[in-house]
Amino acid sequence: MKKPNIVVVGSVNMDLVTGVKQLPQAGETRMGDSFATFHGGKGANQAVACARLGASVHMIGCVGQDAFGEAAVQNMERQGVHTSHISRLPKQSTGVATILLEEGGENRIIVVPGANHGMTPAHIQTAAGVIRQADIVLMQLEIPLDSVRAAMDLAYQHGVSVILNPAPAVSLSKEDLARISLLTPNQHELPIVIPQAAEQSLLDYPGKIVMTKGKDGVSYAQDGIIQHQPGFTVEAVDTTGAGDTFNGALAVMLARGAALPEAIMYANAAAALSITKHGAQSGMPTDREVQLLLH
Ligand code: ADP
Repeated sequence: MKKPNIVVVGSVNMDLVTGVKQLPQAGETRMGDSFATFHGGKGANQAVACARLGASVHMIGCVGQDAFGEAAVQNMERQGVHTSHISRLPKQSTGVATILLEEGGENRIIVVPGANHGMTPAHIQTAAGVIRQADIVLMQLEIPLDSVRAAMDLAYQHGVSVILNPAPAVSLSKEDLARISLLTPNQHELPIVIPQAAEQSLLDYPGKIVMTKGKDGVSYAQDGIIQHQPGFTVEAVDTTGAGDTFNGALAVMLARGAALPEAIMYANAAAALSITKHGAQSGMPTDREVQLLLH
């Protein structure tokens, strides 16, 4: 089988997770119990998911000129992602999510997009060569919409398929939708992306929207009816990154030439495997692991 060639355009973040018995009040200082950093950002997560599954992956993104940016780029290289189109911006920090995790699961999160919001259509133009040669361009919405649109336009001009995971959700125009080959919102995002009942959108765009529904799997429309594919039953340990693994796996299978129902089955299996382990990226399966679950 031909090696899929995927370009991911998106965010790169570092997640800083502090565990504490009780969250502090304003002005209060408390001792925490644990601290750990995790590589994240939907873009980086989806790039790593594709690479684990055996694709050739180029990441287009921006980090700051700081230690987190360096670590994020090194992490992607270790995972086999090509990083020559990750720009290091001088005046912005790498994207960070500061997560305070209270015993019992309550949390407080602050996301600073930093360099992710410094991405411009000029960065996309610089990477035009790899976009033109891709089987699929995979994107999310944690970078400025004008950059997403620049990549969409370029891919469309060259007949390259675009998969957009519209997260965080914004309303998209008809022109945007016309340039996208596949839209992959979850059930909360779809009514924001297209402001009408989700079922109606599935029917209006048959084969073009795959709506994910957590453990309930996926819905999409074919032949004028809504089709469902259930998720795989697994013991959930950490659902962070399930959607990112799903998107990466879907892109890899479609780039291999699979039909949509087969690609969805594979992506459901890959996403289910990812939630059996802690961390967004550390639980992402290899192609072999997915094949073992499927057969
Ligand atoms: P997001 O993480 O983007 O909110 P979802 O929660 O819809 O997206 O999950 C994406 C996909 O991950 C689902 O379509 C399914 O394949 C898989 N998934 C998520 N949660 C579970 C679960 N508890 N059991 C099995 N599969 C799951």
